[in-house]
Amino acid sequence: ELVEFNKFLNRIIDRFEMSKSQNVTFVRLLPKTSYFVEIDTDKLTQVIDNIISNALKYSPDGGNIRFGFTSNDNMLTVMISDDGMGIPKENLTRIFERFYRVDRARARSMGGTGLGLAIAKDMIAAHGGKIWAESEEGKGTTIFFTLPCELNEEEEWE
Ligand code: ATP
Ligand code: MG
Repeated sequence: ELVEFNKFLNRIIDRFEMSKSQNVTFVRLLPKTSYFVEIDTDKLTQVIDNIISNALKYSPDGGNIRFGFTSNDNMLTVMISDDGMGIPKENLTRIFERFYRVDRARARSMGGTGLGLAIAKDMIAAHGGKIWAESEEGKGTTIFFTLPCELNEEEEWE
């Protein structure tokens, strides 16, 4: 399905913003330009849902979750960042493995199975993109992913 990315992402953010119980502010740093992506909307929604629910799980009271994306060479790079506890450097690639969770204490108190990001990695790869994390312990985490895009719908028909 060909969808306008801004509208698609804003809808997902709106849904979380209406239902969240934490004192966390969503900051949308989204360009106004229309970018069209050819995606399986159910699967991409599942990917973004997991990234946002992780960010909420690890956000401190009063924290911000920032949403942004940039584009170049027909790829969008989407970033979702939080002000949470962060992830140690040596675990930054392992969080995309099945059942991997950073530490047992975290796993016990936070619930979940450790599958969300492994599924996200497969789904983003199936869409021709990549996903990775950057983090500073004690400061926060940013999840990035890329997706092939088109600047506007008309280009398709030229
Ligand atoms: P599930 O998504 O299956 O409910 P989960 O959230 O534990 O369980 P993933 O989404 O795959 O699993 O995340 C894997 C692990 O990566 C988490 O258990 C957590 O340790 C770490 N992690 C993911 N996102 C963040 C984040 N924003 N801040 C800190 N740690 C994170
Ligand atoms: Mg998760």
